[in-house]
Amino acid sequence: LLTKRKGTNTMDFQFFTQDLGIDLGTANVLIYADGQGVVIREPSVVAVDKNSGKILQVGAAARNMLGRTPGNVVAMRPLKDGVVCDHELTVKMLQTMFRSITKSTIFSPKPRVVISVPSGITEVEERTVINAAAEAGARRVYLIEEPLAAALGAGLDLNSPTGHMVVDIGAGTTDIAVLSMNGVATSSSLKVAGDAFDEAIARYVRRKHGVIIGQTTAEDVKIQIGSVYPRNDDPTMVIKGRDSKNGIPRELMLSSSEICEVLNRMGRQIADEVISVLEDTSPELVGDIAHTGIVLTGGGSQIYGMDMLLTERTGVRCTLADDAASCVVYGCGKSLAWINTMTEGPINVAKKRLLSSRVR
Ligand code: ADP
Ligand code: MG
Repeated sequence: LLTKRKGTNTMDFQFFTQDLGIDLGTANVLIYADGQGVVIREPSVVAVDKNSGKILQVGAAARNMLGRTPGNVVAMRPLKDGVVCDHELTVKMLQTMFRSITKSTIFSPKPRVVISVPSGITEVEERTVINAAAEAGARRVYLIEEPLAAALGAGLDLNSPTGHMVVDIGAGTTDIAVLSMNGVATSSSLKVAGDAFDEAIARYVRRKHGVIIGQTTAEDVKIQIGSVYPRNDDPTMVIKGRDSKNGIPRELMLSSSEICEVLNRMGRQIADEVISVLEDTSPELVGDIAHTGIVLTGGGSQIYGMDMLLTERTGVRCTLADDAASCVVYGCGKSLAWINTMTEGPINVAKKRLLSSRVR
């Protein structure tokens, strides 16, 4: 993390107040610095020495330590479903990232930050995010609802009353939201997302082929040949694992079509939830969405065929956003333009309710 930024010396002498947009994801943290673009794109992983409790590495460096160090080093994800689940590790992770951006001169001002949070979270959970960011060195903390950030980042126009639908597939959750007038009209979240795909692949390979594979291999399979919709080319991939009976290393060839059989069902669960959100949405907004379509964001939405499957099952045209994994952070970055008019602290829950009841 720290070495990565050594090459950037163009702004070394420049004194600027730093505004940052942060996508604090379960799997990845992305940070957008005003005037610079995305400056951090790291796995949300912290490596900890189990014996001393010391934090050894953060981000990709932490993930790379795994399996290469003695057993006392464990990697942990400090966030779960967009909510802080380990305060200390979250603070440490953000602190390391902030420092690598602002360069630790004594004069560098503390950043103002806009952080995206899932739209379903409670005020208490919002406060845990705010406290972690403040403790990590943020001067002011503003929150933005994740679906709004995703839609902004995908380039949708949210200023008009026209309805839009965004489906963000991350690692832990898939978040579905209908947006209108800069607010969330209806939304839902389900725990079928990238991680669940990986787990389903690992379970299948063990059950069907008697081979045990790790999570990284399962994720590789998903990205290389995984699909939720039949592929014409049916690519294959050779993987390495361990025989479940005798523990001996084994190689195995997997085909896209067999993985599709595993993942198609989960894709359909996402489609069913999209349909049920549409059923809860006012006919006017549904009419708009039939016209504007559904936009897919988040890393997990890049799985082959998700757009086709959702289009087929919902009857609404569904498209994958450009650079889908970065939409949320780009949206946070865009919102920095009106940071001076934003209110600090938790999103006003009452206001949110009022808006959604009006739109519905
Ligand atoms: P989060 O917001 O929860 O941190 P991300 O939006 O960063 O999550 O997405 C992470 C998920 O996206 C992981 O499950 C990862 O395996 C998955 N992913 C990333 N790239 C691809 C791809 N090309 N195809 C399928 N899944 C992908
Ligand atoms: Mg996300």
